[in-house]
Amino acid sequence: MINEVGQGVFSNAFSIESAKEGDLLFCFKGDSILVHGSEDSPTLPLYGELTPLCHHIFYMDGRGCYISEEMIAAPEGYYYTNAPALARNHSDRKTAFAVITAHQLSKWENSRAFCGRCGAKTKRSNIERAMVCPKCGLIEYPKICPAIITAVSHDGKLLMARNRHGTRFSLIAGFVEIGETFEETVKREVMEEVGLKVKNVRYFKNQPWGFSDTQMIGFTAELDGDEIPFTLQESEIAEAAWFSPEDVPLPASDISIASELIWDFLTRHGIERKNNT
Ligand SMILES: [Zn+2]
Repeated sequence: MINEVGQGVFSNAFSIESAKEGDLLFCFKGDSILVHGSEDSPTLPLYGELTPLCHHIFYMDGRGCYISEEMIAAPEGYYYTNAPALARNHSDRKTAFAVITAHQLSKWENSRAFCGRCGAKTKRSNIERAMVCPKCGLIEYPKICPAIITAVSHDGKLLMARNRHGTRFSLIAGFVEIGETFEETVKREVMEEVGLKVKNVRYFKNQPWGFSDTQMIGFTAELDGDEIPFTLQESEIAEAAWFSPEDVPLPASDISIASELIWDFLTRHGIERKNNT
């Protein structure tokens, strides 16, 4: 998974220290990020090479990571590239995870520039990772939305569905609603999307998914009752199917918890895991 960078390598410890030479710089222009080097595995600029006004966001591998507060034109040798695409494709997991997490924070800071309650300009807190309204005192923390993803099995087969806007089959997933436990979300989402009841909902693992400001919480579950025809949520789901292990569409990469859940199902059914999927 994209967040698996090694024990203690990523640290979200809060700091108000200024950047020093050699710290990593994240300069965003909307969804684009400033880099240099090859387009396949671009390199992030270091503080010192560039010296914009910036603030600390986290540490990666013991090195301070800073977001530029200035929108800077790309100097010679540098270029802007799409940040989510870089994070999906970069061969170095630490760079990938740092970029998508910095992008998540950048989007959040920009969307909280003004207080949602009174409209005054907000400030970054000096004591924690938060945006504070100096006028009414409202405190806003980084946007992290919990969502479940579930591998539902029945009779040795795995349930997968294809979104109306996508070409690939994937697992059932959806945001946690108010007043729900994660297990209730699993049951509701499967019922809403394909019209099936599930039982034996069991926690699997979770991951931060900065691409959509989400914390993905993975579960396995089993069909409750006999196999019945799907009732699809037409606004969202184009088709659903039960896949035998040998027919399961393999994940495109190994960065997401979806890949972990699919391979958990497959390895439990005797199929050996392939690298990087
Ligand atoms: Zn306010």
